[in-house]
Amino acid sequence: MEKITVIVPCYNEEEALNYYYAEMNKVMGELSEYAFELLFINDGSKDNTLGILKSFSQKDERVKYISFSRNFGKEAAMYAGFKNSTGDYVCLMDADLQDPPKLLPVMLKAIKEEGYDSVATRRVTRKGEPPIRSFFARLFYKIMNFISDTELMDGARDYRLMTRQFVNSLLELSEYNRFSKGLFGWVGFETKWIEFENVERVAGETKWSFWKLLLYSIEGIVAFSTAPLAISSFIGILMLVVALLLIVFIVVRTLLFGDPVEGWPSLVCIISMIGGIQLFCIGILGQYLSKTYLETKKRPIYIVKESKLK
Ligand code: UDP
Ligand code: MG
Repeated sequence: MEKITVIVPCYNEEEALNYYYAEMNKVMGELSEYAFELLFINDGSKDNTLGILKSFSQKDERVKYISFSRNFGKEAAMYAGFKNSTGDYVCLMDADLQDPPKLLPVMLKAIKEEGYDSVATRRVTRKGEPPIRSFFARLFYKIMNFISDTELMDGARDYRLMTRQFVNSLLELSEYNRFSKGLFGWVGFETKWIEFENVERVAGETKWSFWKLLLYSIEGIVAFSTAPLAISSFIGILMLVVALLLIVFIVVRTLLFGDPVEGWPSLVCIISMIGGIQLFCIGILGQYLSKTYLETKKRPIYIVKESKLK
């Protein structure tokens, strides 16, 4: 009998977990020809998430959990899930039912019958999301796809079914700064995209503030493109050429028309503009350096406090 591992990262999901488990039970009932492993990752929740997971696992031997020593972020939770998964197929799903479990049989079919290595999902609408957030999300995908070789799909969710081979390849990428949306594309293989309408959270609140999303997008850009470095060099060269032309212009003008003292305001503008561009470029460099710094420390991606994996 083939086994499916379902990885569910949970951070303060006590309100959603019961709904999730009920829904997932229906799907597991439908797919009775498969064995299941529900692997919940408690990412340092401050509410009763762990207690609920423990009660599930007492009643149901398919339920396993790993509990982190603090909040390490969803990326770390996903990595821990991949690492401890034992299924022939591995599925990644949110606990808030925004990734409808009922799509699982459809996804499974694409792998089993159509020969894909992974099946990913994307939402085609962003209903229920603040417009400003949708705008910046779209902008981010446009910029990313322009400056990076790894293709990113607009509206892609992390909800995904993968073969063992695909997961093993992901595990080989053991970097500390993880940007999974990019890693999924980077490893290659054949991926089928399934589209669905955005579903709102069943209970609880989103863990993503606008600020967190912005930082995450910078992480994505730094992890998957070195274009900002090239752009800053380019701006540097451009400024140099402009400056050389200006010098020639001023020297010639002074020789022809003398040297009246004027132009202080323009001078101040130019100095502050160049200063700004320099700091901006140093900042870009700093982003890459800081990521390199964290990477060289080789810290573990997560720390487990307790778990039940058998
Ligand atoms: N999550 C997590 N660690 C975090 C933040 C989120 O494990 O630090 C989990 C969360 O419990 C949920 C999933 O990641 O199962 C997606 O989070 P959320 O619903 O807040 O994100 P959204 O769906 O709004 O993008
Ligand atoms: Mg959600």
